[in-house]
Amino acid sequence: MIDTHCHLTYKPLLERVDAVVARARGAGVDRMISVGTSLDDARVAVGLTERYEGVYATVGVHPHYAQGCNDRGRVMGVVHELAGDPRVVAVGEMGLDKHYNDPPIEDQRRVFAWQLDAARELTKPIVIHNRQATDEVLGMIGDSGIGGERFVFHCFTGSGAELDAILETGAMVSFTGVVTFKNSKALAECAVRVPIERLMIETDSPYLTPEPYRKVRPNEPCYVPWVAKFIAGVRGMDEGEFVSAVDGNTERFFGLV
Ligand SMILES: [Zn+2]
Repeated sequence: MIDTHCHLTYKPLLERVDAVVARARGAGVDRMISVGTSLDDARVAVGLTERYEGVYATVGVHPHYAQGCNDRGRVMGVVHELAGDPRVVAVGEMGLDKHYNDPPIEDQRRVFAWQLDAARELTKPIVIHNRQATDEVLGMIGDSGIGGERFVFHCFTGSGAELDAILETGAMVSFTGVVTFKNSKALAECAVRVPIERLMIETDSPYLTPEPYRKVRPNEPCYVPWVAKFIAGVRGMDEGEFVSAVDGNTERFFGLV
């Protein structure tokens, strides 16, 4: 099984990453994508891909880290440099987050636009972080001229209408353990409505541990089977069939071999 989005470089995971990777493998999670959230963080993630079989990385600047990111040339240079590594399977995570007005949205827009520029010259897929900014994120993606099918909206937590707007563009949609929470009925309905060939699963660890382990911190890739089990259940699908479908999507989308 594949965890399509985790942060092995974050302190609670990195300080015992040997055990985290071993526990994942023990749970049948043999591959995981450690998503970069700043240029420096992405380099650490690339280092992990050299140490562990089945660990992949991405290179991008998360909107939370937009403020200190003022050098377009450096963003373009590092994204292009790291994206040349075959174990760097995507650009991102990038996008907009309006949940907090920090960093200011203008900084987030600027850094997102730079990364779309960098990604346009590449062929790798793009991981989108979107929180309460669906219209604007879709607008910027549309303006970029990059085909919608190159994007995944990670940790989808939006409404049914937002889901429809995203699916309309051809993008993939990925769900975390949030879908398993008891107050996430509408989100579970969204997970049923996504066409199976457009769906992926992830932990976003160290955050968002799925039920029945919600209180366990930090989250780890070893818990992604619980996201699979939950969505397979609400879709009325056999769990094994569900996992092979979403893993097939992941291999195709990220070009994993
Ligand atoms: Zn993330």
